[in-house]
Amino acid sequence: MGREAALMRSVFLCGVFTLLACFGRVEACAQDTAAEEAAHRAMVIAQFPPGAAQVLFGRESMPATGPPQAIGSYVRGCLSGAIALPADGPNWQVMRPSRNRAWGHPVLIAFLERLAQKLPSEAGWPGLLVGDIAQPRGGPMLTGHGSHQIGLDADIWLTPMPNRRLSPAERDALSATDVVARNGRDIDPAAWTPQHRLLLEAVAREPLVERVFVNPAIKRALCREGGPERAWMAKIRPWWGHNYHFHVRLYCPSGSPQCHGQTPPPPGDGCGRELDWWFTEKELHPAPSGPRKPLRLVDLPLACTALVAAPGGQALRQFQGTAQ
Ligand SMILES: [Zn+2]
Repeated sequence: MGREAALMRSVFLCGVFTLLACFGRVEACAQDTAAEEAAHRAMVIAQFPPGAAQVLFGRESMPATGPPQAIGSYVRGCLSGAIALPADGPNWQVMRPSRNRAWGHPVLIAFLERLAQKLPSEAGWPGLLVGDIAQPRGGPMLTGHGSHQIGLDADIWLTPMPNRRLSPAERDALSATDVVARNGRDIDPAAWTPQHRLLLEAVAREPLVERVFVNPAIKRALCREGGPERAWMAKIRPWWGHNYHFHVRLYCPSGSPQCHGQTPPPPGDGCGRELDWWFTEKELHPAPSGPRKPLRLVDLPLACTALVAAPGGQALRQFQGTAQ
């Protein structure tokens, strides 16, 4: 697990362009206010080649029509036929709306709506504050996230939904709750509640869920607080950051033959020595990663090039126009 994690870290950690906000605790990236995120985005656009996949996908504001397809892997892919999670539902509110990242595969959007509805009774959790899902056409992003590329990943805040509708300005500026103690070794007992455990358990028990990423300190708390029946805990994976939100990932849905799933997590509750690895000095305070690298369209599945050029797609045509 340690090695798998170390390999994946390079695609996860925020690059130098978001480093100021992300230094030390990478989850600060996800916490960026709309203004901070816009500034980082502009900086990356200025530094990257105009044909970089992050630039092309980051500039698309509308989905590609057609049958819903998750194409490629969670960290190298794109999405057609995306739909957006409405900004408001009976048991959810979409946060950071100005990022335009509430798009997902219809299977994920339906899942989130269903999940939100049952959480009040199942977990005593009043509703979901939903963070980034995916861009309108998926693909790599200009800021944050190595994954979230095929519309099957969603970030959920560890703050319960308030009992009023937040204004768009509040949604772009409010901070989520950090439930991890400052030293990173355990949860912060002043922020962590029994409902957090019930929420994460309810999510992990969902059959469509492939993995749930949480901060190692949260996994440690779940290991301590989980009951005797803990098969669900195999899906709860420790990862850097994820102290303000957790990340839910679904399996490849049917009808997406080009979707590449992931090796299943190792069996067992993941609470033993493999969890201890995350609390070594090196992992508690990881060295900053190098600069975020521009991806080329050829780094993604071939179908993603067609998708970014599909009707309504502006970015590739504009790029080709300037390149001619
Ligand atoms: Zn995420």
